[in-house]
Amino acid sequence: MGRRRHSKRGQSRQKQAKQAQHHLLNLLASHQELPEELVDSAAVHLMKITRRHRLRIPVTHRHLVCRACWAPHTRSVNLRVRIKHGQRIATCTVCGDLRRQGGGPKSHRIRPSEVSV
Ligand SMILES: [Zn+2]
Repeated sequence: MGRRRHSKRGQSRQKQAKQAQHHLLNLLASHQELPEELVDSAAVHLMKITRRHRLRIPVTHRHLVCRACWAPHTRSVNLRVRIKHGQRIATCTVCGDLRRQGGGPKSHRIRPSEVSV
């Protein structure tokens, strides 16, 4: 099958990719009811689509897949989460990738300007 010419400035391609991404995200979100192999392949498929079409994964679903090795983080065995210095630190136990979330110790300080006002 060859690549079709751009129709409507490529919007439908983007639309289809987003629909597929949405479907896979829903699938990953309901991982508890699904067999492991399906969740694994859904995670890989999701990342492939996301990269090929340069899409973004919504923040609400970003934690579902490791962005380094594409392992699904739906099972606790694949992910270790610790709170350190006011940051949420998530470690992928499959590849050891580390993701920090939050501003760290200084972001929780009360700024002098906020106290005086
Ligand atoms: Zn990983």
